[in-house]
Amino acid sequence: MWVPTWLLACHPPAPHTTPTVSEPPDLAIDRWSDQANRSGRWTAEIEVEVGVRAFQLTGTTDDGYAAIEELRDPWGRVVVRWQDWFYGDRSLTDAFFAYNRVVVFDWPIRPVDGELMTGTWTVVGDVIDAGYYYVPRANVDLTLATKRDPDLARSTVAVRILWAEGVGDDPDVVAAVEGAVVRWKEVWGVYGIDLVERYATSHLDPHMPWAWRGDDPSVEEASAGKLDDELQVVIGEQVRRDDYTYGVSGGIPGSIERTTATYVVVSWLVHAGIDGAFSEDEVRLMGETMAHEVGHYTGMYHPVESSYAAWDALDDTPECTRRRECEDALGDNLMFPYSICDATGCLVTDQLTSDQEGVMQRYVAALPP
Ligand SMILES: [Zn+2]
Repeated sequence: MWVPTWLLACHPPAPHTTPTVSEPPDLAIDRWSDQANRSGRWTAEIEVEVGVRAFQLTGTTDDGYAAIEELRDPWGRVVVRWQDWFYGDRSLTDAFFAYNRVVVFDWPIRPVDGELMTGTWTVVGDVIDAGYYYVPRANVDLTLATKRDPDLARSTVAVRILWAEGVGDDPDVVAAVEGAVVRWKEVWGVYGIDLVERYATSHLDPHMPWAWRGDDPSVEEASAGKLDDELQVVIGEQVRRDDYTYGVSGGIPGSIERTTATYVVVSWLVHAGIDGAFSEDEVRLMGETMAHEVGHYTGMYHPVESSYAAWDALDDTPECTRRRECEDALGDNLMFPYSICDATGCLVTDQLTSDQEGVMQRYVAALPP
């Protein structure tokens, strides 16, 4: 396991946020606190009632890094466990990797994971420290979100688009972002997902220094204004002053709870390029970045990583192993890891396989229209 060194600093305690708006009828949210046992593990019992199609469990700790170890179905059978995914070259969920104070676990993730049977499911999680030792008696705040969803082919996803400090004052950037959102809607719309967006201002740092580590209280503070089912996309200038990063997702999947990791960030400046002005092609690319990054947030990985030696856990995305082969097979896939560009512009990336669409439709915030 790899833990970035900047994660090793102490975390300030997260501010307590009070949800202001009640949840939509198809989404139920439950919050409680728990403590890990003497061996650093905690357990969450999840009651699944008739009609519930998917859940999301978010664990937050100030005592280390949180991860999920296994899921058991109502008959006590282990459905998924970390050992089967930790060392392999296929990725199912970030939840098995303890790299953040926040852990997010969705189930089911893929169509092949089957239905969520009624009964009591059990999630076993843990808290470890920077030396990979379990943290006995670690405190964990848990949020369970469950959704009812009779039709996993059509849904609505609500998103709050937050301007980092000052970014929303630039009319050219605002126009480009609005144009990009039109493109994002078009891309997702083909796969039965209607995006409902609204805009808000914030005091978040436009250089988004927290975007790779996900532990900054300012993000959680900003998310106090989001509705229970809303995702959050922050439009900033650059991600840690990097010239090449179009955007970053706060996790795969990301949480709908208000946490330090509740964000997708998008850099307007990297999309605008060195002239700082948007062409039509750059606006389109920014829309596809939004669709891609929030796609990560709903649980999708790159079908192949740019090493060409690691893949997602889906059966219908080809497992190519060489650059040319991968670009030919997957270069137009929305979740391809990079844009294929030449002097005339970048390749359109808007395709999803049926399994990828299935991941998005199962995400807990993809709610009935
Ligand atoms: Zn990506």
